[in-house]
Amino acid sequence: MLNRIDLRGDARDPRDLLPRAQIDVSVAVEEIRPVVEAVREHGFDGIREAIHRFDGIILDQLRVPAEALATAERTLDPEVRAALVECIERARRVHVDQRRADHTTQVVPGGTVTERWVPVDRVGLYVPGGLAMYPSTVVMNVVPAQVAGVRSLVVVSPPQPDNGGLPDARVLAACALLGVDEVYAVGGAQAVAMLAYGAATDAEGSQRCAPVDMITGPGNIWVTAAKRLLRGVVGIDAEAGPTEIAILADDSADPVHVAADLISQAEHDPLAASVLVTPSAALVDAVERELVRQVAAAKHVERITTALTGEQSGAVLVDDLEAGLRVVDAYAAEHLEIQTRDARTWALRVRNAGAIFVGAYSPVSLGDYCAGSNHVLPTGGCARHSSGLSVQSFLRGIHIVEYDEAALREVAPHVVTLSGVEDLPAHGQAVRARFSTGQETTSA
Ligand code: NAD
Repeated sequence: MLNRIDLRGDARDPRDLLPRAQIDVSVAVEEIRPVVEAVREHGFDGIREAIHRFDGIILDQLRVPAEALATAERTLDPEVRAALVECIERARRVHVDQRRADHTTQVVPGGTVTERWVPVDRVGLYVPGGLAMYPSTVVMNVVPAQVAGVRSLVVVSPPQPDNGGLPDARVLAACALLGVDEVYAVGGAQAVAMLAYGAATDAEGSQRCAPVDMITGPGNIWVTAAKRLLRGVVGIDAEAGPTEIAILADDSADPVHVAADLISQAEHDPLAASVLVTPSAALVDAVERELVRQVAAAKHVERITTALTGEQSGAVLVDDLEAGLRVVDAYAAEHLEIQTRDARTWALRVRNAGAIFVGAYSPVSLGDYCAGSNHVLPTGGCARHSSGLSVQSFLRGIHIVEYDEAALREVAPHVVTLSGVEDLPAHGQAVRARFSTGQETTSA
């Protein structure tokens, strides 16, 4: 089922040899550019037209009424409520610990720099709702934003024909449980454009979504493309696109677990990537047999099969775990499982991954819901330079500089010298002016 890639005895840089979907976001950017332009120019009419085209629904109003949020919470299945509450509580525990204290550094006597962490004012949170519904993503976006102290939170999620054009009822219930009351039934690039530019949200123009300062949350290729296009107009978190799992395993791994975990991420999306990296050819064979057996019994057989057999998925054979480590570092998976002897030791040596799941009892699906960790994670190799969503994503560190007269006087010659080097003499003069009699010229 999985493509086999044999890197044994291969000294080349593994980065070019690994399976990865040729998802060309830049092509999708051109596809959704007219949608984004239409929202910017025509506001609600542009959004409505896109919803009609891509979601097959005509909506006259996008804002989810307060009663609908209350009803979704009231009618939520008690088991789902209990699971969501657990998910929220565990996420809160972890994210509260991420809060950073303001810090003042005394650079010299009389001269300090304080780093003050200030939350972004208004944030738009994208909750996907195409192939699967993601009430857990509401939690993973809202909890860190709330812990960071974001004052204004707005959630967008695609309208569902089977819920009267509202977003999925469980998504609405999760918003209500978290106290988010500004929710819109809009998804795709049109949602991202609405958040970035602001727009009327009903046909009469009596309601309006104000523009946000930042957009976070995962989504499909068109959501990712819109975020890339609008980066700069608004702040954007890391690109969190089609999901990925890499598993570094040795012959101690249980093929039943390995196959189950590869399938669990393939279930998200036909473009999802499932990659096994191992020195054990016997494990690959055993996992293959398990995949055939487990996929046949799975619910979303077609989606899973497309993902597992796609060019983005595969079983990579390596000489040993050291080589495997180099491979998973080169791949920089969104989710990395370590199913080896001494799994923790190997996990602590990994440099590139969105999140790491250690040992037989920490599967990715635990992290998707109830580990307490955040599941909005960088994909497509972005884990080389970006982190998953956290409280920090919603904070800006503002430097507050305070020098007294003596401290500035002491360093003034250096400022003047550097301003001369950069041919910006007015910079030096701005310092000199504080100490001179007003007779000097501006030449350095
Ligand atoms: P989605 O909400 O991202 O996309 C659905 C929207 O796409 C629709 O509302 C529609 O407006 C738009 N659309 C559909 N066809 C289109 C087209 N041809 N052109 C332009 N727009 C179109 O939901 P989804 O499709 O289910 O995708 C969710 C994605 O999010 C999956 O890939 C999943 O793996 C990923 N995900 C990632 C993470 C993470 O942390 N990386 C977490 C959860 C989900």
